Amino acid sequence: MTLRTLDTLGALSGRRVVVRCDLNVPLKDGVITDDGRIRASLPTLRRLLDADASVTVLSHLGRPEGKPDERYSLRPVAVRLGELLGREVGFGEESDATITVRENLRFDPRETSKDAGERRSYAEELAAGADVFVSDGFGVVHRKQASVYELAEVLPSAAGLLIAAELDVLERLTTNPAKPYTVVLGGSKVSDKLGVIDHLLPRVDTLLIGGGMLFTFLAAQGHPVGRSLLERDQLDAVREYLARAETLGVRIVLPTDVVVADAFAADAHHETVPADRIEDTAFGAEAIGLDIGPETAEAFAEAISASRTVFWNGPMGVFEFPAFAAGTQRVAEALTEVDGLSVVGGGDSAAAVRALGFGEDRFGHISTGGGASLEFLEGKHLPGLEVLGWEGES
Ligand code: ADP
Ligand code: MG
Repeated sequence: MTLRTLDTLGALSGRRVVVRCDLNVPLKDGVITDDGRIRASLPTLRRLLDADASVTVLSHLGRPEGKPDERYSLRPVAVRLGELLGREVGFGEESDATITVRENLRFDPRETSKDAGERRSYAEELAAGADVFVSDGFGVVHRKQASVYELAEVLPSAAGLLIAAELDVLERLTTNPAKPYTVVLGGSKVSDKLGVIDHLLPRVDTLLIGGGMLFTFLAAQGHPVGRSLLERDQLDAVREYLARAETLGVRIVLPTDVVVADAFAADAHHETVPADRIEDTAFGAEAIGLDIGPETAEAFAEAISASRTVFWNGPMGVFEFPAFAAGTQRVAEALTEVDGLSVVGGGDSAAAVRALGFGEDRFGHISTGGGASLEFLEGKHLPGLEVLGWEGES
């Protein structure tokens, strides 16, 4: 069986549709700082409204502890959704508008309960009065939660347009990708990304390693890394991947130069050094690597722009500090030059791209689901997709 899409639900005119979206946007003092996820859910909502369905939108926001908490109210999200749709959007249980956003699903502990019976009872409540369920919160499909999994069992269900689009792109990264295929990995934790390396290694031509994880790779090769991020317990795993890459003929490219600083701070003193000489500056063994160097950034950019398929997850440096954003900037720019499919995955990577001023349309795809897209690329089973008929890669 393949993914059940919207057209499998038949005519929707006059029917009551519950939609699970991922409207978990960042908020600061009640103000939405990045509405990317609300925008990403518009195509499905518009399609349902155009089909004359009445729509109830479900989502979580943040991590309230299973009880109402004003700080995590979806009210500002409902307001923003109304602006983007250009129509009235109701809010809360009492609303009888054609489209209504319900309050945060996680105000009820059953949403994320480990107990299937509790989740099921919540799903039945959420389904009350509805005819069909549309699942479109791609960012949560790796979770077995009431509104993601059980609700899809309780009502006739199908995937929305966002999930279908995300899956389409991710499948192109795992099944017959156009070559050369380059994967760029960075970010803070090696252990988060090893599963992806494991699954993608046999499929890629080149793997570029930057970000905080590069230091575990350098250390695995016997180089000193000062006080840079280092996951000692991953050294053996990293050595094994380096050896396997060689056997498979996959090129793993490590930085030749890095930017080191005397502190983890925006205004830290910093210097560019060869990657195997990190402790050979005035900072000595106190040096902290915070970005890839310009020579590396250039080499990465060349490899990226010469590829036909590129997947990038994890910033190349601590881009939140302008002094250490150059590597991430250069890599992002190179992705916009790819003649083929370029995909950005990961919450911080997507935020970096937007913060550095790149328009979203300059990339082939920016995934809305960090954890979900990584788990997909690790070849894991995603319960929220399987319940919609999807069976995974062959
Ligand atoms: P994503 O959310 O895109 O998957 P991660 O969560 O893995 O990315 O990592 C993002 C974080 O990694 C950023 O906050 C960035 O500051 C941090 N980072 C990148 N390079 C380094 C480094 N050299 N040292 C410490 N942190 C780093
Ligand atoms: Mg992150």
